[in-house]
Amino acid sequence: MRRRLWAGVLAAAVLLTGCAQSVDPIERLGKKAAQRVRPHEPAGERPYARWGLAAPLPPAPKPPARSAAGGADAGRGGLPPVVDHVPTRDKVVFLTYDDGSERDPRFVDMVRELRLPVSMFLTDSVVGPGYGHFARLRSVGATIQNHTLDHPSLRGLPYAGQRAEICGQQDKLRSRFGLRPRLFRPPYGTYDATTLRAAADCGIAAVVLWRASTENGALVFGDGERRLRPGDIVSVASGEATGPTLRERTTRLLREIQGRGLTVGRLEDYL
Ligand SMILES: [Zn+2]
Repeated sequence: MRRRLWAGVLAAAVLLTGCAQSVDPIERLGKKAAQRVRPHEPAGERPYARWGLAAPLPPAPKPPARSAAGGADAGRGGLPPVVDHVPTRDKVVFLTYDDGSERDPRFVDMVRELRLPVSMFLTDSVVGPGYGHFARLRSVGATIQNHTLDHPSLRGLPYAGQRAEICGQQDKLRSRFGLRPRLFRPPYGTYDATTLRAAADCGIAAVVLWRASTENGALVFGDGERRLRPGDIVSVASGEATGPTLRERTTRLLREIQGRGLTVGRLEDYL
């Protein structure tokens, strides 16, 4: 996917996310570095600088053919695979957001201007009447996936209840967006064999967990190396009452991704 500059967009309204009161040395470094990059170029033509990055995100490599990706076809007995990362050598990680409680219009601008292929796992009872925000996000490149109707912990629930939670949200998202999600994330990351059976019966191709998540703006890792690796699925925390905003959390994460020589890929291209 080719990246192009959004000349003149919001030229007058230059905002660096989270910079107003920040004394974060990395952030200051980022701004200095941003000033070194093409200093003749107005900030309005540098969306990455507007969002607090020192350099553009490299475009994601061409994704593998789906049959070669393995992930979604790797389940046993017709059950969807459970993945917290994608086996790939491509220098990409995947950004996922859950629930749908945060509906900041500026986040839509961020996704559009940085061309971020983010995946939104939505819970109907959390989104409530707010689906319009996610339609806007979808129109600028985000994808919409399933995170149940009511956000229960599914593990241990009977099949009928689990199926109702997953299929019910499939139906809701189909009626709202005209799509049938292929990916499902169980609330709290808890599931059992019944979850996989119910998910399969609802048309889910892969159950998506995460290897890294953000906590108060910092990255927390599950198993394995405590740094981002190619193919990692990252869950960006949502609904934190205090601390950095969703945009700020995303900016910090993008800096970390750039620092590792990685970029953001589209999860659906790999699963
Ligand atoms: Zn959730």
